[in-house]
Parts: sequence; C-alpha cells; structure tokens
Amino acid sequence: MKTYFVSYEEPCNACDGSGIIENPQWTAYWHQTNGHRHLPIDQQLEADEQWWAKRGYSSTSKWPPEEINCDECDGNGIRHGRVLLTEALSELLKNHQMGEVSP
Ligand SMILES: [Zn+2]
Repeated sequence: MKTYFVSYEEPCNACDGSGIIENPQWTAYWHQTNGHRHLPIDQQLEADEQWWAKRGYSSTSKWPPEEINCDECDGNGIRHGRVLLTEALSELLKNHQMGEVSP
C-alpha cells in the first residue's frame, strides 16, 4: 500500500515571518544588564565592554550583530514541512467546518 504525503509552507512563528531574530547573545545582554542604565553614562560603555569581553568580544567593533537570520526558517520567514495527506485533509476539513477556510 502506498503512503501519500503533501508538502506545506507556513509563516515561521519564531520570527513572525520576518526571517530575522534578535541575537540570543543580545537578548542575554539586555536581560542581564538592561544596558547598564543603572550606572552613570560615562561608566556604561566600560561596563558594556567588560560584559562582552567576558564572552570573548574584545572591542565594540567586534561585538556580534544584534539581529541574525532566524535559524528556524534559515532567514526565509517561511517554514516548509511534509505531512501525511490524510493529516492535511483532516486539518483542512476541520478548519473548513470551523469557517476558517472559504469554499
Ligand atoms: Zn523564522
């Protein structure tokens, strides 16, 4: 007996279809330091440099980019997949009955 599959595309929910996400290192930076805003402004850059230096980034020019390509969709904003044809039909019928798909 043959098994039938169907491929699909859907907007990537990791990046909301933009293909770009915040670099997790920057997410950690903002979460842990809040930009060192509690410090006087003339000490913030030094605190930033120390924070990044501990993670292997020696100067401002070498800090990692704040945004990177989404690794869930390889920066395309679209995810591709493959499911059983029966699963796809079942989902389509269910969505149709709920009024989410027009005839
Ligand atoms: Zn994505």
